Amino acid sequence: MYVISTNQMLKQAQRGRYAVPAFNIHNLETMQVVAETAARLRAPVIIAGTPGTFRHAGTANLVALAAAMARHFHHPLAIHLDHHTDHEDIAQKVCQGVRSVMIDASSLAYQLNVAIVKKVVAFCHCYDVSVEAELGQLGGQEDDLYVDSGEALYTSPSQAGDFALATGIDSLAVAIGTAHGMYAAAPALDFGRLDAIRERVSVPLVLHGASGLSSEAIRKAVDSGICKVNVATELKNAFSSSLKGYLQDNPQATDPRDYLQPAKQAMTAVVEKVIADCGCEGKA
Ligand SMILES: [Zn+2]
Repeated sequence: MYVISTNQMLKQAQRGRYAVPAFNIHNLETMQVVAETAARLRAPVIIAGTPGTFRHAGTANLVALAAAMARHFHHPLAIHLDHHTDHEDIAQKVCQGVRSVMIDASSLAYQLNVAIVKKVVAFCHCYDVSVEAELGQLGGQEDDLYVDSGEALYTSPSQAGDFALATGIDSLAVAIGTAHGMYAAAPALDFGRLDAIRERVSVPLVLHGASGLSSEAIRKAVDSGICKVNVATELKNAFSSSLKGYLQDNPQATDPRDYLQPAKQAMTAVVEKVIADCGCEGKA
């Protein structure tokens, strides 16, 4: 089995005190870069996509690509549903071969969040699919998901303990001061809150909004119990700025096999840096 759930990889990360990066991909080239780099560094990685990405590329296409790349490199990959909100949508994608899921009902009232997550967990665990949920809310924008920074909510440590027990989730995304998108100024992360959550929650913790965080901040979060680090914007920016630069310098370029090479190199550097920050090289 080459397309795997994130259960074992996150439990191993928790035991080994490192984190597994989840990279949001949008096309073939980004997935190639993530898979090639992960295999070369023997690093566990998660390939993630929002509902918009799965609509754009096709669920069956993405699952088939991940399986083919995992087989080619003899390197298991998890393909993960990032910020999915709909039970039916999740169920369909699980039936198409996805083995790792995030159900995000964090914008809803606590009891409703618990009820929706429990239902998804009950379904997913029948198929050996791992489930991540979120408590609290990150500010910023990721695809269709937009939260005004004034409405962002930090995760309550005591509620997080109850939430993990009540839902039976396999990992918990926490809000400790990160946001989706890039940062205008370095955010102040609430590490005291992260420690308090860690004391009450036994499942692996997940940090969203890691694009643009300093290596030091990521390492500190990993030391405080973060086992999965999500990176989306940083890869998109590396891809698009490199591509724009190349096409400006080479306006006659028409062959994607040529003009996408510098973009792939730029993304490779990002993937290598995040793997180093997570401390997961050689762990797969
Ligand atoms: Zn996120």
